[in-house]
Amino acid sequence: MHLQEKVVLIEQMFALVDAQCRSFLDKVPLKCPPGCAKCCHGKNVTASPLEFLPYAFYLHAEGLLEDHYWKYKDQPVPHCFLVEGEVPDGIGKCSEYAHRGLICRLFGNAASVNKNGRKLYSGCALLKSQVTDPLQFDEMLQQYAPVYSEFYMQLRSIDNEYGGLLLPVNQAILKAMEIVYYNTRNEPGNTPGQKVA
Ligand code: SF4
Repeated sequence: MHLQEKVVLIEQMFALVDAQCRSFLDKVPLKCPPGCAKCCHGKNVTASPLEFLPYAFYLHAEGLLEDHYWKYKDQPVPHCFLVEGEVPDGIGKCSEYAHRGLICRLFGNAASVNKNGRKLYSGCALLKSQVTDPLQFDEMLQQYAPVYSEFYMQLRSIDNEYGGLLLPVNQAILKAMEIVYYNTRNEPGNTPGQKVA
């Protein structure tokens, strides 16, 4: 499958993810505090390269791929390099919100499934503390919450190698940039500058 077709399929999936998350959040009392980006400042966020393919492809289309690759590669930080703001209070925002990955869309808005097929909420402690009626919350969760594994399976069906590879988020973003670079460097009219990786 051509790179661009994968990007279209991933973006279609993201639209579905966002719609399902909105629908779930309409039914439950969860709301991130204004400006909170504590999850993005976390040191253990993992993602697959494929979920950042639309972001990397966007950078390529804008002629920004190589500049951004070297900017991020040469400035390693312990949290996602796309988050803006300060670590101590966790206030900030995603600098590429429109192009954020699958984990960024699902975290706080979705459920995992246990071995008995029951959905389990997996947001942060702050969101969990907003649940005042656990029984009603669980009812809504079972009915409406999007499920992480379903969307990660869809990602793997688009590209098993890079959809199933979980890496620290910054490595995943850099890998997505490398995939786009190596798939587009021979395009007519492409004038690569400094070689990626
Ligand atoms: S890509 Fe954006 S939303 Fe996702 S972890 Fe990084 S800063 Fe947060």
